[in-house]
Amino acid sequence: MKVTFPHMGNAWIVIQTLFESLNVEVVVPPSNSKQTLTMGTRLSPESACLPLKLNLGNYLEAAKEGADTIVITGGIGPCRFGYYGEVERQILRDAGYDYEVVTLEPPDGSLLGLAKRIRYLAGKDNSWAQILKALRFAYRKSVAMDRVEDLIHAARPRLPIPMETEKLYHDAKRRLAQTMSDKGVQDTVRWVQENIRERQEELGTPPEGFQKPLRIGIVGEIYTILDPYTSMGLEEELGRLGVEVDRSIYLSGWVGNHVFQGLAPGYRSIKSYPSHAKPYLPHFVGGHGQETVGAAVKFAQEGVNGIIQIFPLSCMPEIVAASVLPKIQEAYKVPIMTLIVDEHTGQAGIQTRLEAFVDLLERADLQRGIGQTRGDVLSVEGR
Ligand code: SF4
Repeated sequence: MKVTFPHMGNAWIVIQTLFESLNVEVVVPPSNSKQTLTMGTRLSPESACLPLKLNLGNYLEAAKEGADTIVITGGIGPCRFGYYGEVERQILRDAGYDYEVVTLEPPDGSLLGLAKRIRYLAGKDNSWAQILKALRFAYRKSVAMDRVEDLIHAARPRLPIPMETEKLYHDAKRRLAQTMSDKGVQDTVRWVQENIRERQEELGTPPEGFQKPLRIGIVGEIYTILDPYTSMGLEEELGRLGVEVDRSIYLSGWVGNHVFQGLAPGYRSIKSYPSHAKPYLPHFVGGHGQETVGAAVKFAQEGVNGIIQIFPLSCMPEIVAASVLPKIQEAYKVPIMTLIVDEHTGQAGIQTRLEAFVDLLERADLQRGIGQTRGDVLSVEGR
């Protein structure tokens, strides 16, 4: 068995670690690219949402390296993600790829089905103790990855040379991918933190009247939030424009809540979002629709300067959320912009809209006092 999986931002680091800890052969597909999307789009129904098209492209590229088994998480409710595993299996079979597809989801709210599938993937050579150890380590690495991402979000608008910050991020990811010990994981987070601190110290004390960076909260569909290829480098672009980004969803928070049924909180727990959303959207609408609304309310209450919702074209839960967001914009007087992406989206179009949005936020009459910045995020403990 040679396992592969779809890309979603930095999730590959965690998934690779999990399988390598269990000595299961794993093929990490090449990073998402124009080629990935083109290959996947050729096989996909035109109206399929963007992540499915990229997933298929990932599998085709992984097949070239001998992958024969796909691992994907599942979902429930009124959203197409719950069908991804089966739809992808059939599309691949019709195209001549005999992949086995293992969907990791807690069926009917029970962890038993999930446990059986994990057992199957881990093989007979691994005891349950070894599987749990590997899961725990992968989870801790996922939390560390999220902390690194958050540190980079805070560093981008504060450090003067964007290329240096991106190199730091790149090197941190490489270190995290390679290390197989808790010490290595923690050392990497500390290393990133110290690097940022050193560079800040080199800059000296900010001049009087130094403006704190604008803060923008990103909400929306998880794939478009976490995957920089799909979002056209949204976070990096905002950082370059001098904005500190915060996200509604981090990988470990989502895995903890959706895959492990809240047994693990993750880096940023998403548990409070439904209650935040309640006055505006009291029902689950599939995908991350309710979480988007809840996160937008939470960000607005925290005093962010603006909120950006991002989702793939035709994403039903986010369309519902988008229809509710104007009420939050009105209630909290916080500007909210929606970005919709598909395979035809161009970098220049996104960039222009981001520049215009940031320009709007910078106007003095829209500046609101922010009680605190995320200076404290530059600690190893995170928030
Ligand atoms: S959340 Fe949206 S983009 Fe993701 S699978 Fe569901 S409908 Fe598609």
